[in-house]
Amino acid sequence: MSSAVRPSVVRIREVGPRDGLQAESPVGVEERVALVEALVAAGLRELEAVAFVSPSAVPAMAGAADVMAGVQRRPEVSYVALVPNLRGAQLAIEAGVDGLSVTVSASPEYNRRNVRMSIDESVAQVTAIAEAVGEVPIDVVVSCAFGSPYEGDLAPSDVAALGDRVLAAGATSLTYADTTGMATPRRVGELLDEVGVDVGLHLHETRGTGLVNAYAAWEHGVARFDTSVGGLGGSPFATDTAGNLATEDLVHLLDDLGVATGVDLGLLLSASALAARTVGHDVPSRVAAAGPRSRLAETR
Ligand code: ZN
Repeated sequence: MSSAVRPSVVRIREVGPRDGLQAESPVGVEERVALVEALVAAGLRELEAVAFVSPSAVPAMAGAADVMAGVQRRPEVSYVALVPNLRGAQLAIEAGVDGLSVTVSASPEYNRRNVRMSIDESVAQVTAIAEAVGEVPIDVVVSCAFGSPYEGDLAPSDVAALGDRVLAAGATSLTYADTTGMATPRRVGELLDEVGVDVGLHLHETRGTGLVNAYAAWEHGVARFDTSVGGLGGSPFATDTAGNLATEDLVHLLDDLGVATGVDLGLLLSASALAARTVGHDVPSRVAAAGPRSRLAETR
């Protein structure tokens, strides 16, 4: 794939306020708003800011409408909500979100545990949501795209076929998620050969391959990634999946490659420090721990 065009611009969707915080003990609306604002100040322009899910199932995401009402909306920033179903989508639209994120798992068992639906039922939800929300963009995240804790490896052609189904159902874009940290550069390449590069990737550091997978995908031509400030998060429904790819680790790499993200690494590290204070513990990001390489280079 050396002939592929390596993108000069990469779009990052920051998922820390949702995917990150949902794995933590609940924090207050004001702190969640402050984290969103710090990330926007760092230059992030698309944020999965909230989830409209059952507060009893995911207590950390309660008060989503209050978070949306609390942020200082900027026209250049897209504030996205994760929604599991039509009811969640309706609440998200009422709260004024700019886009929706809907998860459909490539793993039947994971889907059942995550949203208590069969894959067919989840695809039908995408249709219902698309019909209800009109022009609002719907990104469908195909989770467990690189393997499932229940079914093991999934054929890339099957994962791609599910992507085609959700696009036909009304999704406006697709993101493939390594929910369980089973992706490797080889498997990223195998999936991209099936689905093309006009997709987003949501990568996890569960086995230390998140950043190298992102690099491999970028070399293939992928220009859209989900990351979480500090590397916070994971899934509460699959054990030992903790560790989203950290926003600052990806920005640090892309800065050095000369790839534009629009994100200021210094301000992002301030947001990461705020995230650590918010959750009350250190974050897994390596760059947050060690500091950027440029800081050492400048002192030489
Ligand atoms: Zn994640």
